[in-house]
Order: sequence, then C-alpha cells, then structure tokens
Amino acid sequence: MRLLHLFTAGFFVAALWSSPQAAAVQPATLKKSDLGQRFLLQISYEQKSIGFNTSRSRIVTFEREDAVLRMLDMSGTQGSDPTRVLATIPISGETRSTLDIDLNAGFDTVSREEDRTGEDYYGRIDSHDANAFRLFERKPVSLSYHEATLVFDQEARTEDGQRIVVHYYLSPYRPRPDFRAFEMNNLRRFGFYETYPQWRSDRWVLYAMKFDVHEPIVFALSSAIPERYRSAVRDGVLYWNQALGRSLVRVIDAPPGIRAPNPDYNVIQWVTSGAFASTSYIQSDPLTGQILHAHVFVLPETMSDGDLEQQNDHLRYIVAHEIGHALGLRHNFALGNATTVMNYFKLPRILQIGRHIGAGAPALPYDRAVVQHVYLGAPLDLDMLPPFCTDSQRRCFPFRSGPKESDGMRGGAVADDKIPEK
Ligand SMILES: [Zn+2]
Repeated sequence: MRLLHLFTAGFFVAALWSSPQAAAVQPATLKKSDLGQRFLLQISYEQKSIGFNTSRSRIVTFEREDAVLRMLDMSGTQGSDPTRVLATIPISGETRSTLDIDLNAGFDTVSREEDRTGEDYYGRIDSHDANAFRLFERKPVSLSYHEATLVFDQEARTEDGQRIVVHYYLSPYRPRPDFRAFEMNNLRRFGFYETYPQWRSDRWVLYAMKFDVHEPIVFALSSAIPERYRSAVRDGVLYWNQALGRSLVRVIDAPPGIRAPNPDYNVIQWVTSGAFASTSYIQSDPLTGQILHAHVFVLPETMSDGDLEQQNDHLRYIVAHEIGHALGLRHNFALGNATTVMNYFKLPRILQIGRHIGAGAPALPYDRAVVQHVYLGAPLDLDMLPPFCTDSQRRCFPFRSGPKESDGMRGGAVADDKIPEK
C-alpha cells in the first residue's frame, strides 16, 4: 500500500487548508491532577508527496519541570525507558488547578513508524526505531475537545519545504477492561495487522489489531459519496456481518462536512481527485491492539468503466476489501481458489464477488474463518487454510499465476502488487 501514498493527499491537504481558520487557537488545558497520569496519543498526517499516514500510537505521561511539561513515553511494558522524552511543551499559563500548554511549540517531531505493523516487516522484538522527521514553521490550525479527547490540528513544513498537516488525538488512557486481545503467534495461516512487540514477563507479545465487539462497529459514509453508489458501499461494509455471522458492523451517514480522518467517526471518504488508490488506515491502542479509529478512502476511478451495475459490483468488492483492512486484516495472496476479498483478482472475478456481496451470499471461507476466530474466539481449523502469503514476505506476490492480469483493480492493485506494503 505504500506506493499509493505517492499519489495521495493533495486533495485532503487542499481541503483542510482552504477551510476558514479560527482567528486564534485556544491553548490546550491540562489539569494539574492529570500530571503523572497515562494518556493515549495518536497522530496522523497528510502531505502531498507522501499522502495520508498514521504515526505509531503511544502511551504517554506528563511531568512538570519549571516552565515546561515533559511528555514521556510509557508504551513499553518492560525495559521501557521512562526518561524517553517525546516532547517538551512550554507552559503558557497557569491557574491553581490547571495548566495552559503550547502544543504547537512542543510537538515538533513525527515518528515515521506507522500505527499498524507486521512481524514480517518489523520483527517480533521492539527495536525502538528512532526514524522521525522534524516539523518547521509550525502553526496551530485548530484545537477542540471531543468528549475526553483533545483534537489538535497543526500545519507545518518538512525539512524539504513541503507542507504538512498533522492531526493529534490526546485522551486519558482508559483501555476497556472487557476487550479481548488476540495474541498473534505467527503469520503461517492468516494475517492481521499487529501491535508493536511488547515484553510480557517471559516473551515478546504481538496482538492483532481489531475492534472491540461489545458495541457495534460503525462506519460512516461520507456525504460526498453519490447517491447511486451509496447502496453498494453499504453492501461492501455489511459483507463483514456475513463473515462474522452476526450483525456487529453498522453503517450510518456521516453528517455533511465530516471527512476522514475524524476523531468521532470511522469515515468512508470518497476521494474525487488524483490518480491514487483506495486505501485504509487504522489507529489502535498500542498495548491491546483495540482499533479506535479507521479512515477509509475510496477512489471511484478504481472502479471498472462498465455500466452502473458493473461499477457497483466492482465497488462492493473494493469496499469489502478496504473494510477488511479497517477491521485489521492483511492482504492474503495465497494460491488456490478465491477464498477471501483480501486478495486481488481479475475483473470478471471481482464483478462476480461484487454480485455475490450484493445478493447477500455467504462470505468467502477464509474471511469467515479468520474473522470469527480473531474477533469472536471461534475455533479455527488451520488445515483448511492454505499457507498465508502477504505483501512483504519473500516470494509472495499477487497475481502470481498471471503477471499480466493486474488490470482487475486498477489504481490500488497496480501500485499494490508491485511494491510491498511496507
Ligand atoms: Zn489492500
């Protein structure tokens, strides 16, 4: 999926920058009683040359030192370095119980590590990658509170002068006590995106990234999706209820003006410009893998030409594939019969899958088996699955049986099938 980024984001960045900006951005306020408490920090950013991306989520805490707050990384479970300072944030005002802090001054670096990872490209041991880039000419764009989450948008330039918009979500860290994390032991038969490795008393542990199932998993259709396609987009999302065997996934209409990324909605965004692909991003609790935000981008140009019915069948497959990523699933290019929407196919097969989805047919066997196993704890018969094969694994490519057949899912697939995900 990485190459897609080369084409992305002009649209998003332009959309944000052309919006009217508040005359003054209020400072962020932190209660003094929150010092020393744990917070979850999630970051995403948009840039013309790279596109939309997420940055590795962190558990952080704040310590005061005179006129600044030090934001410390508390994500590690063992061998963590509590002196690792992620940011030094000036205190701009103070009352008896609160501190005003200048996030724009303090947030001057973004880690290149994505929020989602996989042991095939990162490994099963945390390596504390320090690969980051600096933000110059920083300007606050907006700061708002969404229930307990502080949302801060910042505009800046990177070292090479390119404009970038960075989105920060900062909230008290309150993991759901009833969330059932799923430990990933290997990628031999199925693959989910994973948390970065954490040391747990005797071993490194990686959890699958997945939503909690105690509440509906809600996706919001952008108001920009034309009426003639909305029903097909809904079908593609609700395909996963067929796979789960219960109605866990729901679709709503996003209020007008709501676009991805958004802290309150898992938006399915209709991307109307540029020759880039449909793609999905997720942000999760770095300790448990619980997905907290999904941002899905659908490029209409990815669809086949054809008539409206064919376009909608194509769209059903694209959306089912991207929502699969949003639910945590990796690509699976395993050879054999088509058993998953997480593979790429030639156009006739895509249209066939789309027709089946539209008709409410049962989900494909791999999708059903692994999503019920990881999400619901259903037993999994490993022998029924062929060896798993995904983007960055050696000798694993989509369309292995026909290298010229990559015209099925234009845009995303063409980029996707030449460059590994990472
Ligand atoms: Zn994909």
